[in-house]
Amino acid sequence: MAELVDRRRVRIVRHGDPGQRPVIYWTYRDQRAPDNWALLYAQEVALKNKQPLAMVLCLPRTYLGATIRQFGFMLDGLEETDRELRKYGIPLILLTGMANEVLPQFIEKHNVGLLVTDQIPLRIHRQVINRIADDTAIPIHQVDAHNIVPVWVASDHQEFSAATFRPKLHRLLPEFLTSFPRLKRHPYAWPNPPVPDWEKARKSLRVDMAVPEVDWLKPGLIGAGRVLKEFFTHRLPIYGELNRNPEFNAQSDLSPYLHYGQVSAQRIALTAQTYDRWITSQEAFLEQIVVRRELADNFCWYNTAYDSFDGFPDWAKSTLNDHRRDARPHLYNREQFEEAATHDELWNAAQLELVIKGKMHGYMRMYWAKKILEWSRSPEEALADAIYLNDRYSIDGRDPNGYTGIAWSIGGVHDRAFTERDIFGKIRYMSFAGCKRKFDIDAYMAYVVQMQADLKE
Ligand code: FAD
Repeated sequence: MAELVDRRRVRIVRHGDPGQRPVIYWTYRDQRAPDNWALLYAQEVALKNKQPLAMVLCLPRTYLGATIRQFGFMLDGLEETDRELRKYGIPLILLTGMANEVLPQFIEKHNVGLLVTDQIPLRIHRQVINRIADDTAIPIHQVDAHNIVPVWVASDHQEFSAATFRPKLHRLLPEFLTSFPRLKRHPYAWPNPPVPDWEKARKSLRVDMAVPEVDWLKPGLIGAGRVLKEFFTHRLPIYGELNRNPEFNAQSDLSPYLHYGQVSAQRIALTAQTYDRWITSQEAFLEQIVVRRELADNFCWYNTAYDSFDGFPDWAKSTLNDHRRDARPHLYNREQFEEAATHDELWNAAQLELVIKGKMHGYMRMYWAKKILEWSRSPEEALADAIYLNDRYSIDGRDPNGYTGIAWSIGGVHDRAFTERDIFGKIRYMSFAGCKRKFDIDAYMAYVVQMQADLKE
């Protein structure tokens, strides 16, 4: 039988024979039923061996500072995945606790023969996979279901910039940007799978409830479908020209769905490819969703210091070190940043957009992080505060895109050296005056004021 899933998408963490035993797909990053290479691979092996298949999600009580805003979005999306998977005879089994605490027992109890999991570059997941490997003896296969070109195929090292990464990715895209096979109805039933109790799952969380869930985006595959349709009909035509103008909403708003894997980037890229009539926009969008997104995964996969000063390139560390003692005319602490209490009304508006909406415009994200560097005592403090605020309030926080975007803004990652100046050294600078020249800052600030007023109603 021909292989359905390209084996270059699969990284063998531990070899072994799955035998005539059930297969589980333990997911955390790609929480969807359709268009999911990891699930398709797990099903391929299970069908070959005539075995039951389950998708398993281990729900931690806390996770890297996530609040109910992020957990709520994830759990609502998972409810839909559960409903979708049932149509295919595949249960979604919800376990409560960190995977390394609960998965080994589950594997033993159900005599599982193969553990398939998705690819997440964050350190915590690498540690968890290693612990599970230590505590079990079964084969473990990791499938990159998030990137179009698997991160370990696209490049075997940390890329210097988009310029070095882009040609490699483009060369490989014809082999990997292919259509998806359909998930099949699974003929071998999992015996008595427990039905997820979503209320109980929410109650199990030990997370901050003070950051409210948002209602302008509906989590899950259906919500993502709506956003996609809206985007391709109304916003893609203007994306090329206006996606860097925060006063226009030309961005796709897909990052929350992509972050939880509620929709596949490959599916979106395939759809975008059909919109040749807006070629400039099509190219600009594909550059973001393919090149920039997969470059971020490359950074976090190959640089385990992706969220620290050590992870910056040498030229950036050196220039930031040279400017540690520079006078800082404005200094704020984390609380002042969080409360949007700086002297800069544009920055405050961006921070409020993040807090209220759970998503800051992409252009403002750069300005926002760079100003945190300018107004902090050290690059380390700036980095820690930017990550804290981004991860606390962004629906799409804790993502390789976020760590990389912050490292780009503060630490010159994937960027080049610019003319030297105070505090920033040779790190690219952004200014209030520059924003004022580039876009209508009053319109952007008015939109945030309106959002604040709507919230009070
Ligand atoms: P669109 O412009 O519609 O882009 C479509 C998709 O392309 C995005 O969903 C994303 O997957 C990808 N993309 C776009 N811009 C980038 C980029 N610069 N780098 C990598 N991929 C990109 N992105 C997150 O997903 N989560 C974060 O927490 C996050 N934090 C950031 C923090 C800072 C300081 C910076 C500078 C960038 C950050 N980004 C983050 C990257 C980018 O700003 C967002 O992906 C984008 O704004 C998401 O909105 P969208 O989906 O509407 O974007």
